[in-house]
Amino acid sequence: METEYDDFRASVRSLAADKIAPYAADVDEKERFPEEAWAALRAADLPGLPYDEKLGGSGADLLSQVIAVEEVAAACGSSALVLLVNWAGTSTVVSHGSDELKSLIVPKVASGSAGAAWCMTEPTVGSDLSGIRTSATRQGGDWVLNGQKRFISNAPWAEWYAVLARSGENDFGVFMVHRDDTGVSFGPHEKKMGMRGSPTADVILDDCRIPAVRVVADPMQGYQYINGELNVSRALIAAQALGIAQGAFNAAVAYTSEREQFGQPLARFQMLRGMVADLAVKVSSARALLYEAVALIVAGDPRARARISMAKLLCSDNAMAVTTDAVQLYGGYGFTREYPVERMMRDVKITQIYEGTNQIQRLVIAKDVYARQVRS
Ligand SMILES: Cc1cc2nc3c(=O)[nH]c(=O)nc-3n(C[C@H](O)[C@H](O)[C@H](O)COP(=O)(O)OP(=O)(O)OC[C@H]3O[C@@H](n4cnc5c(N)ncnc54)[C@H](O)[C@@H]3O)c2cc1C
Repeated sequence: METEYDDFRASVRSLAADKIAPYAADVDEKERFPEEAWAALRAADLPGLPYDEKLGGSGADLLSQVIAVEEVAAACGSSALVLLVNWAGTSTVVSHGSDELKSLIVPKVASGSAGAAWCMTEPTVGSDLSGIRTSATRQGGDWVLNGQKRFISNAPWAEWYAVLARSGENDFGVFMVHRDDTGVSFGPHEKKMGMRGSPTADVILDDCRIPAVRVVADPMQGYQYINGELNVSRALIAAQALGIAQGAFNAAVAYTSEREQFGQPLARFQMLRGMVADLAVKVSSARALLYEAVALIVAGDPRARARISMAKLLCSDNAMAVTTDAVQLYGGYGFTREYPVERMMRDVKITQIYEGTNQIQRLVIAKDVYARQVRS
């Protein structure tokens, strides 16, 4: 079925094939920032997709953002992560920030000349964000931040950091910290299993003083603001997983069509055809659920929260299975770095963990099921 999004998908796919995929293995091998991909994404104005035109963006809808992330991730998971984390890092400013804060931060991020990060996780706190220890204390007209944020994507490449910090006994705010603010430093780059082109490091705040204008709206409502952005950020992570799955699937179909054993292409063996059929179902069903969840988010439907948890769960679990079977379909070559499926299998693992682990998604889904006492 053709849709109005087909041309857009085709243009991002072609950009990813020409300007991102050729560098993906090198980015992974050297654990380096995907410079070529970022230049290509900037040249195509993709960093500005979600932002209002007044702020230098193109005002694209959520499905367009999802499609862009899918297509970039099919070529290079790390490049997709850099892109979508920029969007997540600015999301609370866009939704709740003052006009002054928006114009300070968003236009540069929209143009791709600045990066953004969002900083919630801490050394002792991941799934249970209510336990965060980073503190924000009012001092005169300023706020002073102290604490340590762990596993922060885009650190220290980013310029702006949306930091969730404790502003009262049981209250939290979102504070926009600049890389050059006094008291900001970064830990060493994490050495990771996958997504090795996406820089990940601690963000350390040691008496970091920022002016009150850098607080996102109400300093006691940050938890609610972050919570409100989770539907979109989970949709983007689901899209990333789905894109990687699609990339591995495409590669496996091409490989099994060419490689011969016992005098015929692998694709003729019924056992492998069954595997490939199962992978096709995993990719298509994950995409269908994600797009349904995206439609609910856009419509402001209260069912969106549980549905996006289902989509994040299904997209990432299916993507893990698809990439693992893609390695199997390549045989021994799949286990080498000569072919992309090995990288894709490593990259995709994290999609089951970040933006709420899949155990946490199950908690959200089960809570909704019992609250509604309905089957879907
Ligand atoms: C590459 C990478 C990039 C990241 N990027 C960012 C980022 O940009 N910003 C950011 O803030 N964070 C980021 N993170 C952190 C990520 O979101 C957390 O690692 C994740 O939320 C899990 O938290 P944790 O690691 O502390 O695990 P824990 O919360 O300690 O969980 C450990 C295990 O216990 C399970 N578990 C926990 N609670 C429950 C429960 N109630 N019921 C059942 N099981 C449970 C979990 O599912 C998991 O299996 C990133 C992490 C990585 C590795």
